[in-house]
Amino acid sequence: MLTHNFSTGRKPALISVLSGLLIGLLVGCTHFAVIYHERETRFDNITRHLQYYLNNAFSELRTTIDSLQPLAEYPCADIASELTTRAAFTLNVRAFLLVDRGRAVCSSATGPMTTPLNQLVPEIDVRKPIDIAVLAGTPMMPDKTAIALWVRDPRQQDRGVFASLNANLTPLLLYPSRHDDFSGIALGFDNRAISSFSHQLVNPLQLAQPPVRQVKLNGVPLEVYLYASAWPKENLQFTLLLALMSVFISSVLCFYIMTLRRHPGKELLAAIKHNQFYVVYQPVVDTRTMEIAGVEALMRWKHPDAGEIPPDVFIHFAETQNLIVPLTQHLFNLIIHDAPTLQKVLPAGSKLGVNIAPGHLHADGFRQDIRSFVDALPAAHFQLVLEMTERDMLNEKVATQLFDWLHEEGHLIAIDDFGTGHSALIYLERFRFDYLKIDRGFIAAIGTETVTSPVMDAVLLLAKRMDLTTVAEGVETAEQADWLCERGVNYLQGYWISRPLPLKQLVAAHDEPAKYFRSSQTSITIQGQ
Ligand code: C2E
Ligand code: CA
Ligand code: CA
Repeated sequence: MLTHNFSTGRKPALISVLSGLLIGLLVGCTHFAVIYHERETRFDNITRHLQYYLNNAFSELRTTIDSLQPLAEYPCADIASELTTRAAFTLNVRAFLLVDRGRAVCSSATGPMTTPLNQLVPEIDVRKPIDIAVLAGTPMMPDKTAIALWVRDPRQQDRGVFASLNANLTPLLLYPSRHDDFSGIALGFDNRAISSFSHQLVNPLQLAQPPVRQVKLNGVPLEVYLYASAWPKENLQFTLLLALMSVFISSVLCFYIMTLRRHPGKELLAAIKHNQFYVVYQPVVDTRTMEIAGVEALMRWKHPDAGEIPPDVFIHFAETQNLIVPLTQHLFNLIIHDAPTLQKVLPAGSKLGVNIAPGHLHADGFRQDIRSFVDALPAAHFQLVLEMTERDMLNEKVATQLFDWLHEEGHLIAIDDFGTGHSALIYLERFRFDYLKIDRGFIAAIGTETVTSPVMDAVLLLAKRMDLTTVAEGVETAEQADWLCERGVNYLQGYWISRPLPLKQLVAAHDEPAKYFRSSQTSITIQGQ
């Protein structure tokens, strides 16, 4: 959350968009798979239904035909009326013809006849036990497609029954027509079929669209073809809309979870736990001796992704999240950890400046925290200096008591950033300070804006009158140092002397001061050399 403002700022957004796209793709594909599966299941059901209906119809027809086979033994005149009745009561039958020795001898429609069957229907092969043909018409109804069925008498090679059937697909259409994505059916084989698309014969495999299903019937060499309309546009539009909505919703949700919902202070506490903080120490020199009189401890956060996070940012963040107490306690622990090494490079009596935020000063455990900190430091080695700004003294009564207590305990108090909005003159009167740290804004102006010099003069005079020790912050040039020394400033702190140094470098600087304090005068050394 906090570190997002730095290097990882775009990371959650990118992750959210990528996750959104992935989820959108998944939702889109899943929805498509579901509607595809539903459509396929519908086609399977329609096909099964048609197959069932037609198998039943042909099975009934076969039963009727089988019962007609013995009639061929009798003269047509005797059985013609029986034949006519059976044709009339069998669904979709136009005519039954009894065939003997390859000739149609009796018709349910016209009575006795002697025409060779292959002359009437050349497509039928009477040598086959069963044969079927799809016809454009029959002699009596030449324009109406029909199905011709031949069933040979199993007991007599050249006898059998021929049936011409109405190619009426209407009953078959009742069930599938309820489904939007159904477009039609055909019944036939090879390249001839009757269909719901045309009154003429069609090639079932060469219609505008290939069939989505093609199944065989039982007992008759016929196939059923099922045709579907193209994918409904609305389906695809809906899938696309759903996918886009999923991309949007999941991206927003993902971003929300990754940023807003995350407890903002969690990251800071996690950083404490994972030891991402460390302390740097900035030397402060005494202007009389130009020797290091102490250090200011400044906290650093090295985030694994975001890198170094400026202290102004995380200190302010910790204050707003009520985490300044655990953060300062952690600072104390880090200093305690460094103390044995610090003791080696800083002589007894060295000042140890620690910044205290207002939130901590007024916290219940403040006194205890200071006591535990001091108790854990090497005994009587460091002079603790608590650096505070005017903001720290909001509650005058409590602040006064705390200041008295700190002094009784032997600690010193510095008013930090003096001269900025944070530290006003009035506080100098109200509270007993030991040090006055002049803000680096004034120091930076030395030599560039002479206008500020009278103000600086006034500040220094005031400090002298009030018996306050002065520390100039942010000394960056020799010119500034000279100017401040001339005016009797007691201590200097700034890049001209040294940048804040990690412990290792502070030790190295102690061992080889010339290398680390190049910009300063050669007389600057760490005491104890
Ligand atoms: P500050 O207490 O006024 O600390 C001095 C700041 O001035 C430090 O910045 C230091 O690096 C910088 N500085 C020193 N010499 C020079 C110089 O010659 N030129 C310039 N331009 N800057 C110089 P840093 O470490 O970034 O800290 C900024 C502020 O964050 C500190 O101001 C302090 O208010 C706060 N801070 C840092 N560490 C802690 C901490 O452990 N606890 C608390 N409560 N606040 C801290
Ligand atoms: Ca300070
Ligand atoms: Ca300061």
